[in-house]
Amino acid sequence: MISKAGPEAHLLGPWIAPEDELVCLGHDEDLEAQSGALAPPIVQTSLFAQPSFDQLVSSLDDEYRARVYSRGNNPTVQAVELKIAALEGGESCRCLGSGMAAVNMVLTGALRSGDHIVFAGQTYGPTINFARRLERFGIDHVVVPKVTPERVASALRDNTRVLWMESPSTMVFETFDVAALVQLAKDRGETDGRSVLTALDNSWASPLFQKPLASGVDFVVHSATKYIGGHSDVVAGAVVGSHALMEPLFHNAFLLGGAALGPMDAWLLNRGLRTLPTRMRQHHHGGFEVAQFLAQCEHVRTVMHPGLTAQLKSHAEDPQGLAGCSGLFSFELALDGKDRDHDYDRLNAFMNALRRFRIGVSWGGVESLALAPARRGKAEALEAQGVAYGTVRLSIGLEPPAVLCEDLQRAFDVFQRSGASA
Ligand SMILES: *Cc1c(COP(=O)(O)O)cnc(C)c1O
Repeated sequence: MISKAGPEAHLLGPWIAPEDELVCLGHDEDLEAQSGALAPPIVQTSLFAQPSFDQLVSSLDDEYRARVYSRGNNPTVQAVELKIAALEGGESCRCLGSGMAAVNMVLTGALRSGDHIVFAGQTYGPTINFARRLERFGIDHVVVPKVTPERVASALRDNTRVLWMESPSTMVFETFDVAALVQLAKDRGETDGRSVLTALDNSWASPLFQKPLASGVDFVVHSATKYIGGHSDVVAGAVVGSHALMEPLFHNAFLLGGAALGPMDAWLLNRGLRTLPTRMRQHHHGGFEVAQFLAQCEHVRTVMHPGLTAQLKSHAEDPQGLAGCSGLFSFELALDGKDRDHDYDRLNAFMNALRRFRIGVSWGGVESLALAPARRGKAEALEAQGVAYGTVRLSIGLEPPAVLCEDLQRAFDVFQRSGASA
């Protein structure tokens, strides 16, 4: 979190590995196996007929690998899974019907009654709501805001089985040393023959800009709805990990959870992946340009953009760091904090004055979006979570950044006039 951006920050990066670029473009696809079709076929089938009853029996015994039923495996979905696994440097990926289904798969697959979860940092709201839901099944949790290894270490209990991380987080954009937290989890060793598993929600960075498995994380989770899909036209999720960890989760949680991704949606993800490197480059530069405009604006108190504080480096140089920034960040409108209702009205006036930015949830598409977590009469509740009342979150799309800055300037002018009428 900073108030002023260095003028050269946007000239750094992003770095995208050439191998990743080729994976996204589809250079590893088996064209012969798909009759030369350059766009992979959509295999719209619920089941796969087996050559014999014997074969059916052995396929059912190995549903992790075999194609039996599309709730388990489907070639169009597997084509995307192979690519996401390759990008994350993992052995196995499973795509699901939403990011929340991915969260659900890891938590319900890894945990049982009596277990405990530690959430490091400000965590995606529905993930915490899901953890609350798990309380009725005897699974407790704690959220550790303002992460330091010491604070996380003291939150770990004997029965902690999952350490869940979001770095950067997606409202206040806190970052922390992921490898240090993973080490804490590993140092706990095993009790009951079980250790502390680590998971990181990597939706913000996309598989191109952060590789959590390189920091020793066990499970990488994605809302593929965001940058991987990239066009605001599909809801999907993904989990990546080793075969040893993913195979039990496949049986316990994926196959039984029933949140399989459909072949049509998998096809859209595959198309999204084709342009992921190009889009991420543009989100990186566009995001920095708008963040820098905001940093010098008198109505902005702070800009919360991970790239303004984190050291960006290529993964060749630092495999554990951030190699670029996506287009999602927040800033704090300079409200005066005396009359909270009046502050809310001014925030509302600012939001409603935006024309290019659409107002809406989600992010990662081609169009720029604005959202604010403030609600009338709820300033204290928001601040208790470490989020300023004047927080505005922007998802920078692919529009020319100058057009977006102009739009923000118009909204700041309205904001200024709304202050005068107090
Ligand atoms: C959107 C989001 C999710 C949930 O993904 P869905 O695809 O909406 O189910 C999880 N984590 C983060 C950080 C998100 O932004």
